Amino acid sequence: MNYATIKNCDIANGPGVRVSLFVSGCTHRCKGCFNEVAWDFGYGEPFTQETIDYILSLLKPAYVKGLTLLGGEPFEPQNQGAVVDLLRQVKAKYPQKSVWAFSGYLFDRDMLHGKLGDPAILNEFLSYLDVLVDGPFVESKKDLTLRFRGSSNQRLIDVPASLKAGEVVLWQDWQGNERGMK
Ligand code: SF4
Repeated sequence: MNYATIKNCDIANGPGVRVSLFVSGCTHRCKGCFNEVAWDFGYGEPFTQETIDYILSLLKPAYVKGLTLLGGEPFEPQNQGAVVDLLRQVKAKYPQKSVWAFSGYLFDRDMLHGKLGDPAILNEFLSYLDVLVDGPFVESKKDLTLRFRGSSNQRLIDVPASLKAGEVVLWQDWQGNERGMK
């Protein structure tokens, strides 16, 4: 896997201050995509153990609340193995930090009931996630007032609750508001 960017102080892609990894490679090709250069799987730098060590070091401060995975597409089958390797190490070292991911795939259609890569790797990937923002960016549904999302078709999914229920459960924030909706 290659990656495009690592941000060490991201406050736009999940709650609190986060480290964000933008992986390379995406087959969705959404019209109006915010990061078109990262469609190319060969874009950016090779993702290595040194990269993982760097991310682990960025996550160390107490004010960093967690890690967010974006792209590109972290769930492309050819990216999942490297991402899972990262998450395994992040969760071993910082079990209290949250993990968010963004995907153009759909949780229920492609992850719960689909064939998105190797099932063992995909299930391990999902086991590390707190929240998944799913669905492609749809330009006609673009809404700048939405929190953590670009278009209104995208959903904020509580992954542990959804895996337990076997269906999509939207994420609730600490104030009890449903954050799958505006
Ligand atoms: S899924 Fe994300 S990275 Fe891929 S084309 Fe759509 S907006 Fe761009």
